[in-house]
Amino acid sequence: MLDEIRLKLAPFDARLVAVSKTHPASEILKLYGAAQRIFGENRVHELLEKQAGLPADIEWHLIGHLQTNKARQIAPFVSLIHSMDSLKLLQAVDSEAVKCDRVIDCLLQFHIAEEESKFGFSENEAVEMLQSLQFLALKNVRVCGVMGMATYTEDRAQVRKEFRELKGVFDRLKARFFSEKPFFKEISMGMSGDFEIALEEGATLVRIGSLLFGAR
Ligand SMILES: *Cc1c(COP(=O)(O)O)cnc(C)c1O
Repeated sequence: MLDEIRLKLAPFDARLVAVSKTHPASEILKLYGAAQRIFGENRVHELLEKQAGLPADIEWHLIGHLQTNKARQIAPFVSLIHSMDSLKLLQAVDSEAVKCDRVIDCLLQFHIAEEESKFGFSENEAVEMLQSLQFLALKNVRVCGVMGMATYTEDRAQVRKEFRELKGVFDRLKARFFSEKPFFKEISMGMSGDFEIALEEGATLVRIGSLLFGAR
């Protein structure tokens, strides 16, 4: 399955985040043996346990909600946080990053699905934040792009519309705030059921779990 996914990603120049949540380290090592290096987890506790016992050159991505009081634990090693959903969280990660003498890459999570969700910015909220002095004061977090999850539905047109919306948000933020920041380039969207649509709509990172590891 890894090879099939790689073939589908190749023409788009997109990268695969192998979402290993709930699956044991042994399963991660199988993909590691096939040269997969980016793994995503959605819970801090599980991420810490796995990181401690697995090869040091794995790039760990946090893809689930992060509580401010847990930023300290992942700050020393996390390579990308997909799920930044408030200024408060960016500030917490920034101050932990300072203590580790690191700059931590992150994505702003947007709420694009129809489903109710507590997490994710609206475009207006993000614009307001990006203009704020508090945001401009942050030196040890680097906003590299956007992330979103489409509605869980069979309606492919709906999913496509939501991915297109996220790409639109990315393009507008890029033009307005990041035009001279080449690192602002990531669009994290697409999971096992919809990553092909996400690729067509501009994803640079797809987050795939069950298709790689089996059902949870
Ligand atoms: C679990 C999860 C995924 C992967 O989902 P699959 O349907 O198993 O591919 C992607 N993104 C997030 C945020 C997740 O929590």
